[in-house]
Amino acid sequence: MSDLKLSCLECHLKFDLFKIRYFCSCGGLLEIAQNRASSPILTEKLDSRLTSRKASDRSGVWRFREGLIPLSDSTIVTQSEGSTPLHRSERLEKWSGSKHLWLKHEGENPTGSFKDRGMTLAVSVAKHLGQKVLACASTGNTSSSLASYAARAGLKSVVFLPSGKVSQGKLSQTLAYGAHVFSVKGDFDRAMEIVKHLAEEELVYLVNSINPFRIEGQKTIIWELLQDLEWNPPDWILVPGGNLGNTSAFGKAIDEAFHWGWIKKRPKIVTIQAAGASPFFKSFQQNFASIDSVKAETIATAISIGNPVNFTKARKAITSTGGLVEYVTDIEIMEAKRQIDLAGIGCEPASATTLAGLKKLIQNNQIKPDESATLILTGHLLKDNEASNDIHKVSFKEVEPDMSVIKNALNEVA
Ligand SMILES: *Cc1c(COP(=O)(O)O)cnc(C)c1O
Ligand SMILES: [Zn+2]
Repeated sequence: MSDLKLSCLECHLKFDLFKIRYFCSCGGLLEIAQNRASSPILTEKLDSRLTSRKASDRSGVWRFREGLIPLSDSTIVTQSEGSTPLHRSERLEKWSGSKHLWLKHEGENPTGSFKDRGMTLAVSVAKHLGQKVLACASTGNTSSSLASYAARAGLKSVVFLPSGKVSQGKLSQTLAYGAHVFSVKGDFDRAMEIVKHLAEEELVYLVNSINPFRIEGQKTIIWELLQDLEWNPPDWILVPGGNLGNTSAFGKAIDEAFHWGWIKKRPKIVTIQAAGASPFFKSFQQNFASIDSVKAETIATAISIGNPVNFTKARKAITSTGGLVEYVTDIEIMEAKRQIDLAGIGCEPASATTLAGLKKLIQNNQIKPDESATLILTGHLLKDNEASNDIHKVSFKEVEPDMSVIKNALNEVA
């Protein structure tokens, strides 16, 4: 099992699995080449772990360990990430036009976003490698996740945030778990460049999604979804796209699940971007010939990224599954968020791109109402209170403690 290698996506050059490297000498992204010749991992074994009390079985990430990386139970840094709920909602089916809708809520992870699934691997590897200072650029969720997992492992975390572009909740959370925060006067893409330089000089260990171990952990969103659905894949899986780590991870997860015989057909991946940060969509329109970075601006701060580092991996994910890329406006995002919130499920703005995108694709006849679709809700409702307060303030009333006034007000509601 330990003969896994880091492999260049472009020239296929191989490196040792635990060599600290983020790019190939040719500049290509690195991925972990799973050993396809080894005996297949059986779904029966994965299912049997659902009733186990062992920490590594209870984690919705490490439950799939044979398909990830070889690390001992004493090395892994886990806090029962994953095992997130899969919701249905008649209200949202009606609103979107879909007849078979599921919502997998990755906001129900320990720090409130899917980033925990990749972070448990990245921090476990950092610990295994003896790294002491872990770093990332972030719009707030990666930094919250890193800060928490580094604290659990007794390691230091340093984070670079675009100044004024991170919600209060995410900033508080990052600070609370003990991260050292550098607020950079610039956007996310600038913060990313800075931290890449520090990593190249080996001053820090980088845990952004160019770290291939992050991608490995995030594959388990798909594997767990397939397990939730008793290994019957939906037709479509919709996910927000920022740095495109998730899109990349989903493509790899589907490819491996298919190879190992867990599923008989490949669900199609749809990446939804915000109109003001949609370089991947623009590239898709030109058959992915190249990608031009943009200056990102959207209310969905988690995906306000103009120069996605995982472009080549994400392109492979869309083409290999026959998927799509779409964009939605900030107004469409906030209306979809309002619907998800009022369904009692709730999410942060970036996650709502998926519902807005589904509605758009059904209206445009690219997804049929009776095809099944799963939306990946990436972040928790409480991650961005500023955004929520704005759309839900109509339901808020200051009242005098006077029964007749209150009864009158109640009349208007009921
Ligand atoms: C990080 C994040 C995204 C974007 O994911 P990528 O893998 O960078 O495309 C979307 N939504 C939320 C809530 C996030 O935290
Ligand atoms: Zn290469």
